Amino acid sequence: MEKKEFRAESKRLLDLMINSIYTHREIFLRELISNASDAIDKIYYKALTDDSLRFDKDSYYIKIVPDKKNRTLRISDTGIGMTKEELEENLGVIAKSGSLAFKKENEIKDSYEIIGQFGVGFYSAFMVADTVTVISRALGSNEAYKWESQGADGYTIEPCEKDTVGTDIILKIKENTEDEKYDEYLEEYRLKSIIKKYSDFIRYPIKMDITRR
Ligand code: ADP
Ligand code: MG
Repeated sequence: MEKKEFRAESKRLLDLMINSIYTHREIFLRELISNASDAIDKIYYKALTDDSLRFDKDSYYIKIVPDKKNRTLRISDTGIGMTKEELEENLGVIAKSGSLAFKKENEIKDSYEIIGQFGVGFYSAFMVADTVTVISRALGSNEAYKWESQGADGYTIEPCEKDTVGTDIILKIKENTEDEKYDEYLEEYRLKSIIKKYSDFIRYPIKMDITRR
């Protein structure tokens, strides 16, 4: 008798994810903000054991920037960032959680601190965006990389410029259709109410920059 492992068809899994796991589209913002908060928590944990690192609370925040003219929504953090390898592993493999791995490596007890564990939340961004771009520079590196994907077809990675450590997630918000409205995810009041509803417990400041055009 031979025992075999299940394999997953990642394109179909991603479609399934995007279309059925979440009942409310608006939760994409909760997922991206919790990833940003996790990324900042990781610097915090590193600083506890590494004397060369200082955790100065004021330098760590999450920033949300809607841009109606370009139809983009950016979620930036000053967290730990991702190397090229981490972008491939954490965003290129569905259901792979870098945060769960981090908790195990650093023996962080399951707690309300680092939220991530299932390795799927990130992909909820495709519920509202046709293109997701991730620009990231990892702590301790002076290289930055850009990861980009239109969903099921895969992703590209290339070197890019980023002056500071952290991650920018840029969502190209979908065009409205007859049945579905996406414009609301570029509206300040709507974003604020989603943040209030789901991300009130986040321990780092969430700032919003408005581009008025
Ligand atoms: P989870 O949060 O459950 O681990 P996600 O699909 O939300 O799963 O994210 C997958 C992984 O991608 C995370 O575990 C983390 O390693 C990495 N990641 C996602 N967003 C960020 C970010 N803003 N900064 C650093 N790493 C991130
Ligand atoms: Mg997550």
